[in-house]
This record gives sequence, C-alpha cells and structure tokens, in this order.
Amino acid sequence: MTLSLHGMGVSRGIAIGRVHIIERGRLDIPEYHIEKDQVETETRRLVDAVSLAKQQLRAIRDHIPAATSPDIAPFIDTHLLMLDDAVLTQEPLRLIKSAAHNAEWALQLQRDTLMHVFDEMEDPYLRTRKDDVDHVVNRIQRILLKQKPLRHEEPDSRLSGYVLIADDLTPADTVLMQLHGILAFVTEYGGPTSHTAILARSLVIPAIVGLHEAGRIAREDDMVIVDGNTGVMLVDPDEHSLRYYRKRQQEDRKYYAGLIRLKETPAKTLDDVPVRLHANVELPQDFEIVRQVGASGVGLYRTEFLYMNRETPPEEEEHYETYLSVLDTMAGLPLTIRTVDLGADKQVDGGRQGGGSVQANPALGLRAVRLCLKEPALFRPQLRAILRASAHGSIRLMIPMLSNMQETGQVLEMIDEIKMELGNQGVEFDEDIPVGAMIEVPAAAICADIFAGQLDFLSIGTNDLIQYTIAIDRVDDEVSYLYEPLHPAVLRLIRMTIDAGDRANIPVAMCGEMAGDIKFTQLLLGLGLREFSVHPTYLLEVKKNILESNLGRLSGIADAALQASTAADVEKLLEQL
Ligand code: PEP
Ligand code: MG
Repeated sequence: MTLSLHGMGVSRGIAIGRVHIIERGRLDIPEYHIEKDQVETETRRLVDAVSLAKQQLRAIRDHIPAATSPDIAPFIDTHLLMLDDAVLTQEPLRLIKSAAHNAEWALQLQRDTLMHVFDEMEDPYLRTRKDDVDHVVNRIQRILLKQKPLRHEEPDSRLSGYVLIADDLTPADTVLMQLHGILAFVTEYGGPTSHTAILARSLVIPAIVGLHEAGRIAREDDMVIVDGNTGVMLVDPDEHSLRYYRKRQQEDRKYYAGLIRLKETPAKTLDDVPVRLHANVELPQDFEIVRQVGASGVGLYRTEFLYMNRETPPEEEEHYETYLSVLDTMAGLPLTIRTVDLGADKQVDGGRQGGGSVQANPALGLRAVRLCLKEPALFRPQLRAILRASAHGSIRLMIPMLSNMQETGQVLEMIDEIKMELGNQGVEFDEDIPVGAMIEVPAAAICADIFAGQLDFLSIGTNDLIQYTIAIDRVDDEVSYLYEPLHPAVLRLIRMTIDAGDRANIPVAMCGEMAGDIKFTQLLLGLGLREFSVHPTYLLEVKKNILESNLGRLSGIADAALQASTAADVEKLLEQL
C-alpha cells in the first residue's frame, strides 16, 4: 500500500529510487574510571582518535568531486577547525587527568557542556553550530568505540541510484553522497535554513527535511518517490503514482535543458520592456556560475563569509584583495557589494559582536548597519576596501537594515570622510560610486521616498521585510506557515518602495528570495519591478517567465492584489495567470 509522508521540501526535483537508511543509531557511551597509571594510555587514545577523525575528514575533503558546489568544502573545513579547537579537544584531556574519566565519557561531558552553552544563547543560527559539534563528537566517539564505517562511508559500496534516509546528515555525508551518485535525500530533522538544506540545494538534488517518521516507516530497499517541490515522500508507490511522477521527471528534464538556451536572450517582456536580471552571490567561487547563466551583474554580494570561522575580523587588505579577484571574475559586469550584515540569523562567533552579551531579540538588536556604526573598526576597513576596489571596476555599495535617516546620514558621512582620506593619500577610487540601501525594515519601506532622496538606488530585501512586517521569525519552523510573501501588507510595502524609486528616478531592485520564486515573477512585474536579483540557479527560470509576460495585463492584476484582504485572495488572482 502506498504511504504518503509530508516534510519540508528544501531542494526541488523528483527522484524515484530504492531506500538506503543511514543508521548511525544512538551510541552507548561507556562511563568508567581509569587507574592513575592508565592516564597516559587513555590520553593517547583520545589524541589518536582526534587525529584519525582529522585524517578521515581530510581524505573526504581531498575527494570532493570537481562538480561539487563550492559551498560544501567550507562546511568540512569548519569540522576540521573544530577538531583543532582547544575547547573541544583539550578539556576532555584535562578531565581524563583530573577526574580519571575514560576518554569517551570525558568527551561526552564536554559535548554536554557545549550544548548547554548553545542552548543558553537561544540563537537560531547557532542551532546549526550545535549540530556541527554533535557531528564532530560523534565521529571521534565512533572511532574510540571502534565502530565499523557505515555503508555509505565505504568507498566501494554500491549506492548509485539510491535515496538516502537519515536522522540528519553531516557535510561529509553529502560529499560521499555525491561520490556514490545518490539520487535524493530525506532527513528526519532540520529546517529550511539548516546546513543540510543549504547543501542539498548546492548539490542540486531533491531533498526533504523535517520528515520525522521517515526512518521508521520506510525500510531498507523500499521503493520511494521523493518530491522536493512539495516535501512529499511516497513509500511503496503504486503503478499509477510511478507513471505520474516519471512523466513529471521527463517534463522537468526537458524544461531545464530548454532553459540554458535562454542564456544569451535579453530579458524583456512580450511588450518589449527590458528587465535587469542580476545574481545573488556569497562565496568568491560562486561567481563562475554568474557567467554560466548569463546574469547581467551581481545585485547582492553578501560579504559575511569573510568574517566566518576566525577570531578577528578581516583587515582592509584582505577585503580589497577579495573584491579585486571578484571583479576579475566578473569581467566588466557590475557588482553590488553589500556591507557586512552580521547578527541575528548571521552570527559568526556565538554573538561576540555587540560586546558578547546575549541579546533578547537578536533580529531586533545590534545587527547589520547598527553594529557597523557602533564598531567603526569593523566597518571602516570594509568601506575603504570597497572604495579602493571601485577604481578597478563597476561597483555599487549597498547598506543593509537601514531603518532611519540618522543612520543613513552617518553612513554617508563616513563614506565622504573616507573618500577625503583616500584623496589625501593619493589613492584612486570612483568618486561617483553609487550608494544604495536595502529596504528590509517596514519603516524604510514606508519612508522609501525619503531614502530615495538621499541614495542612488534601493534594493528590497524581502527575506527580512516579510519577517519584520508580519512579525514572523524567518528561521523558526514553528511559525513558517505564517511567513507569507503575498500578505497584502508586504505587497503594499513593495509597491511603495518601487513607486518612491520611480518618482526619484533611481533604480529599485529586489534581492530577497521572493525575486527568485517564479510564483511571484509576474506579480512583481505588475507591481513595477524592473530589476531582479536572484540565486543564479533560479535566474534562467525567472527569465523564462519574464519573456512570457505581458505587462499590459499584469498591472491590473497587481492593482487588484493590492486591494485583496488576504494572501489566499492574492493567490487566487495569480491563478488567473
Ligand atoms: C533579505 O533580507 O531579503 C536579504 C536579501 O538579505 P539576507 O537574506 O542576507 O538577510
Ligand atoms: Mg536581509
């Protein structure tokens, strides 16, 4: 009998295959005391296990297939860094000496202490860091307990064409999955912003997370269908379902093969209105794909990665060198660099920024430009580097999370001071570098006309704008059902921002996820949006929708959407398209 299970689809596509269950199982960690004369042997056991864990991870890292997304290696590097971190490995050694604990138990005690620290922090992003600690500790403990490698860890196991089901996956698992040619994966835990979800999108394979019953209901070698679009997994599908999904798979293949042909086609509507299609990028390595999909530039370059996994923030030269090499890859295309947006969902160091105190509401606290203005030592080197790089290519400078004109004035003043400083030092920069604001706080959208009067461009960050408008934490899966891009309040704020930009004659882009979701392309065009910045893997799909759109018809529908009472009503309107 076919069973239908529902989780959260985090990476699109359909896969049909047999199940392999990764059963890490709960490790039974032995607890005992050792004799004084065993301390040295026990210490060596732990040191050797850590060193073997490093060897294993390095081997996996060295075998990352060439086609793997550049997002993946940094996740493995994070685990390697943890293995070098005294907090994780030195304290257990101390416990072996001072309390005569066995190695496994000493490590377990330190793991529990760290988990407790993470829990106290109550930051959603740090939950994924908790997972990292668990993955690393689990690897060392399995070595200490001489557990056999799991089937997917054996290089010669035959898992090609399988769908993996696991409670959770480590970054190392995902590399192995690619080596084995795994078709899709389903995990019992994890939300849309978990590492697992990010990795799935990078691997471009269908994936479902948060499907709590998956490992209990599906059994080894069962046939399953995974629909990453809807988050549905069918176990033991009947002939009818198999036929239906095979047909959809074929249609998908045809559809994606057709998209690449649109790479050189100029993005314009049927009634000849040109639309700019830019890409969102995070890591310098991602810039290659910007060219592959024919983006006309980068509309959002998130720079947080420069601050990750390190003790001190990057200095001016490091920023500068990074931006120069990015400009090099861009080969003349315009680049919008967003100044650093740390805090809230983008913590890099357990909330060290802001003096290290735990914030009650990090999303409403010292994040992004607020933090930058409070700590100029963090901000100035980045601004100087962006300005210096602007002498070598087409750069726009974009400020996140502005909420009032005082902050805007302070930033503009700081930029002017730095320009003066550079001028005095005889350093070249673009005098007319465009400076823009992300509109992602409702206050900024409502006052977009005031912002537009002071800035050269605006870019709507819907990820945050939706969160702040509807008061929905963007990373809390308990309330994700209320996270509605089509909420009339969100649509009205988008329209206000676009109108303000038009009146001031400055460009308005959208760089939040909403811009890359083809369900919304036509509505956004109808609302007047003419510049989309989207994840490069969605760019051609959005272009296809633009090419098929007729603006004459869309503005009427957009006007009706603005008058709708509910998101559901807007959805009905969109169905007419
Ligand atoms: C946004 O908020 O829409 C955005 C693009 O920025 P981020 O997702 O980095 O907060
Ligand atoms: Mg944002």
